[in-house]
Amino acid sequence: MEKSFYLGSVDAEHVKKEKNFDVNKLLTLENNDAVVNIMCNNCHSVVEGTMAAAVSLAQAANVDLPENLSDKYFLTSCCLLCDQSDNEVSVELKGIKQFVN
Ligand SMILES: [Zn+2]
Repeated sequence: MEKSFYLGSVDAEHVKKEKNFDVNKLLTLENNDAVVNIMCNNCHSVVEGTMAAAVSLAQAANVDLPENLSDKYFLTSCCLLCDQSDNEVSVELKGIKQFVN
C-alpha cells in the first residue's frame, strides 16, 4: 500500500528494548476522530489513525477490521517520517496485550 495513507509506523520486539517507550501511547487516543494508534516499527513514531485510515490499513494487513480497536494497534514497517523512499510498506494488526507482555 502507499505510505501516504498514514503517517507513522514500530516493531514490538524493537520497542520493548526502548526503555523510554511508553506503552500508554498505544492505549490512549487524543483526537476525537481517531479510532486506532499506528506505530512505526522502524522509528517508533506513534500516530493516531481515523476510521478511513484503519480501513485502509486493515486491507493492507489482509485482516478484517475488528469492531473494537481499543486493544489493537497497527504496526507498519516504516513510515513517512523515517523513510522517504518508495518502498512498499508492510502492515500488521497487533494486540496491545501481547505487546505489553
Ligand atoms: Zn517511521
